[in-house]
Amino acid sequence: MLGKIEHLGIAVRDLKEGNQLYTKLLGRLPYKEEVVESEQVVTSFFQSGENKIELLAATHEDSAIAKYIDKYGPGIHHVAFAVENIVEELARLKKEGFVILNEKPKRGADNKWVAFVHPKSAGGVLVELCEEIKE
Ligand code: ZN
Repeated sequence: MLGKIEHLGIAVRDLKEGNQLYTKLLGRLPYKEEVVESEQVVTSFFQSGENKIELLAATHEDSAIAKYIDKYGPGIHHVAFAVENIVEELARLKKEGFVILNEKPKRGADNKWVAFVHPKSAGGVLVELCEEIKE
């Protein structure tokens, strides 16, 4: 089963502007910024109470985030759930009929193994699974 909502992913056109907006909104600064080369994004993370917000901006016009913003504009992009064992959960969800975008978990931001469930199979929501990398 899935665990808590690990973070909400929010697509922004420009990370600096996004950081300024969310700093005002949440009343605090982001605690980290990180480039994820494989996804062609730069991310920043805010803690808000027990919850985390991830801002994502494209670093290249081919980035999935650039395409998303072209189509839908900035806004909520994905919901990420924490899992204990991402490989097991992917197998379970696949068996349940969900379409998995990357069957092999990849290294995401903030020290996590991540994989995504296609929104077409999840009621219109892009779902991210993430497992803390322990090494
Ligand atoms: Zn995420």
